[in-house]
Amino acid sequence: MSTRLSGRAAAPGAALAPAFVLAPPALPDLPETASGTPEEEIWRLRSALERAEAELRQLAETVTATAGEEEGEIFEAHAEFAADPELERLAAEAIEGGSSAERAVVDAFDSFRVLLVASDSEYLAARAADLDDVRDRVVKLLLGWSTVGEVPGSRSVIVAHELTPSQTASIPVDVIAGIATETGSPTSHAAILARALGVPAVVACPGLLEAARAGVGIAIDGRSGEVVVEPGPDERAAIQQRAAEEERRREELAAFRDEPGRTADGHRVELAANIGSIDHIPAALEAGGEGSGLVRTEFLFLDRTTAPTVEEQTSFYVEVLRSFPGHRVVFRTLDVGADKPLPFVEREPEENPALGLRGVRLSLRRPDLFRDQLRALLRAREAAGDEAGRLAIMFPLVSTAAELAAARDTLREVAAEERIGLDAVEVGVMVEVPSAALGASRLAANADFLSIGTNDLIQYLFAVDRLNGAVADLGDVLEPDVLGLIQRVVEAGHASRVWVGVCGEAAGDPTVAAALVGLGVDELSMTRTAIPEVKGALRRLTREACREAVLHAIATAADGGEARRILEERLEAGLRS
Ligand code: PEP
Ligand code: MG
Repeated sequence: MSTRLSGRAAAPGAALAPAFVLAPPALPDLPETASGTPEEEIWRLRSALERAEAELRQLAETVTATAGEEEGEIFEAHAEFAADPELERLAAEAIEGGSSAERAVVDAFDSFRVLLVASDSEYLAARAADLDDVRDRVVKLLLGWSTVGEVPGSRSVIVAHELTPSQTASIPVDVIAGIATETGSPTSHAAILARALGVPAVVACPGLLEAARAGVGIAIDGRSGEVVVEPGPDERAAIQQRAAEEERRREELAAFRDEPGRTADGHRVELAANIGSIDHIPAALEAGGEGSGLVRTEFLFLDRTTAPTVEEQTSFYVEVLRSFPGHRVVFRTLDVGADKPLPFVEREPEENPALGLRGVRLSLRRPDLFRDQLRALLRAREAAGDEAGRLAIMFPLVSTAAELAAARDTLREVAAEERIGLDAVEVGVMVEVPSAALGASRLAANADFLSIGTNDLIQYLFAVDRLNGAVADLGDVLEPDVLGLIQRVVEAGHASRVWVGVCGEAAGDPTVAAALVGLGVDELSMTRTAIPEVKGALRRLTREACREAVLHAIATAADGGEARRILEERLEAGLRS
């Protein structure tokens, strides 16, 4: 008898294979009190932390080679946990108080963990699993246990209570047919790794461990979240058909990689990649990104004690521009504020940092930083050469036309000082504050483009903190009134003959992307891994079908959920085939 279960879709794809059930990474009872002197225990502690750090740096290298740079960074971050001086200090203090090194490590990690779990955010809570992963490695090293996990002998669906990132990374990808876990979240690093490795995954699937025994057949659908334990002949046939469809889809998407984004009837939609660091560029090119609609330059400024010099910034910007010959590259000026503080910017503490001195507001208060950045961008354009991508500059968190005018004045002054013409440089505004969306006509009159930042726009429209998982369900870009507002922004842009893009996470969801194209959006910039799916979906839909579907959703849907159903129903053939 088959058992059908339902979990959360975490990585697309379908698989049917025997289950390989991983035991939870349990630790034995730990010695509570030290067997040696505090000095000896502290020496054991230090060497275990050092070995854990070395192992994790090695794992980072392996994962970078198999999954990619960004995925490798997960383990670099784990290595940083192991190397954290505050953690070592806490553990050493407990040892001085009579604890064993093992108990001291567990308690020190636990005090870090409490902070993460208390945050209420699904994203941060998912980081607690990362911390546990590092803690278990250090404890195993102290106990003299092996830190190498169990590995199936043949291709299997890995079944577990929750997979740690290092369990996922230490199983060779060619024996992982799929992953199913009883708990966990789609934003966990194990799920991120599964997506990067192209392995289907379902998480948060209650009843899984009770139903699945080692060796029984298990079918998973990483798009719907469906899991079938011991599937019958019909269920087997269905999942095999899904797997074949997925394979065909993957091949089709790869074939379009170098084709421009367009709808089935030839309407052009630029599909660009969001870039947060130089490391993101190879994957953006690999995914077929047509330039970048959002280079988040703040990554150059964070994690350092002094501002980057004009020369340092110039060489970073040149490298990005040269990576996208023939395409536009939109550099967003510094978007930091009290929530992402910079050590070299003095600031008053803010009660509500999301409503405080961030984005262009900070740049206008700190003309020294702003002018250096604009100078570096203009110099980079001169230095990158004619073959490089085209420079565009975009101001974040603009809320009034006066701010845009002031930012443009500063740019003109810097260009005059540098004797660099601005004719070939597009200047745009992020529309991510309700007042900017309402005042889009005024902004468009003084800009070359508008780019809608749906992440912040939703945060401010719905008053939902984007970092707080407890309220995440409230903000939905497909709410009919949000779609209506986006439609007005697009119309305002087009009335002033400027192009309108979307660069929030929403642009990477094929259903939302189709709706945005239906509303007239000209460019979509997204997480680079989303580009092939969005490109594939748009190539199967006509512009008119998108338009008709989204206008129907705006006119008739009661809420975002219903709007999604309407869009999916009306665009079904294109979105699913
Ligand atoms: C946005 O707000 O939608 C956006 C793209 O910018 P960020 O996520 O960097 O705030
Ligand atoms: Mg934003």
